Amino acid sequence: MRAELETLKSEALQALEHVQNSKQLAEWRSRFLGKRGALTQLMRRMGQVPPEERPAVGRLANEIKQALEAAYAERAEAIRRAELEETLQRDAVDVTLPGRPPAMGRLHPSTRTLREIERIFADLGFQVYRARDVELDEYNFQLLNIPPHHPARDMQDTFYVDDGGDSESRTVLLRTHTSPGQIHAMREFAAMNPDDPPPVRIILPGMCYRHEQITARSEIQFHQVEGLAVGRRITMADLKGTIEYFVRRMFGPERQLRFRASHFPFTEPSAEVDMDCMLCQGKGCRVCKYTGWLEIMGCGMVHPNVLRNGGYDPERYTGFAFGMGPERIAMLKYGIEDIRYFWQNDLRFLEQF
Ligand SMILES: [Zn+2]
Repeated sequence: MRAELETLKSEALQALEHVQNSKQLAEWRSRFLGKRGALTQLMRRMGQVPPEERPAVGRLANEIKQALEAAYAERAEAIRRAELEETLQRDAVDVTLPGRPPAMGRLHPSTRTLREIERIFADLGFQVYRARDVELDEYNFQLLNIPPHHPARDMQDTFYVDDGGDSESRTVLLRTHTSPGQIHAMREFAAMNPDDPPPVRIILPGMCYRHEQITARSEIQFHQVEGLAVGRRITMADLKGTIEYFVRRMFGPERQLRFRASHFPFTEPSAEVDMDCMLCQGKGCRVCKYTGWLEIMGCGMVHPNVLRNGGYDPERYTGFAFGMGPERIAMLKYGIEDIRYFWQNDLRFLEQF
């Protein structure tokens, strides 16, 4: 029995030398020290040992068991370290790699421009008035002095939503400009005090829709910002001063303006506003088509019919209105050559702003 125990001990220690990983280690443990392991099997035969030798044999067996447990623990620790080392090497993190910056969201260039325009007019006391995108023909055209067969309708190919049955004025469409908001706003203001309506000083930003060929210069959807001021003794000089202030805040204090006579059904007189080209300083370049001037908005004094339709007596009130496209403003300001970039949602374009 003693000899068998000694043999078992050396056999076990020798086997332990060959153990390379935790799986083999577990196998070794169950083979020699487990419940059905070699040592346990040997101890079961203690009964065969003569009684007087049993204490000594038992002590020896315990010593061997402790020796094997100690050897096991030592080997286990070595393997654990080796395996940890291996994992660290395999899954090493290269701390010298540059980090990946989190992607930052940002405002769309149209939104940024719109907000800048709103801010400038807010400083002049203009409120933002929001109107609906889906309109009646009556508001989009008729109340703005554009009767059913007016040629201006041809210039504004329209997306129709509902034909309105027999009544042309009940036809539902997507607004072709923000001007119908002028009527909504004036009527709302006038309703506060019909005998003596309060002055109006608003800007109307919003999306407009036209059924047009999409090109680098025209889109089927675009923003417009319309301005409207109505009150007593408002003159064309107020209009010029307001626009001059806006343009110089937006494009720089040295900008020059010119007003060219034009025609719009809802203003009389009407004008187009040109600004000297800030790219060539008026000398002429590709962007200004070698004229030195850039067209930036249309404007005029509110037509008496429009004032009346809004609930303001044209004998007592006057007003001015202007309208511009923030996308066009952004194109000039940032040197964007193609309006189609705005709604293509190409991150390479959007991330530049
Ligand atoms: Zn130019």
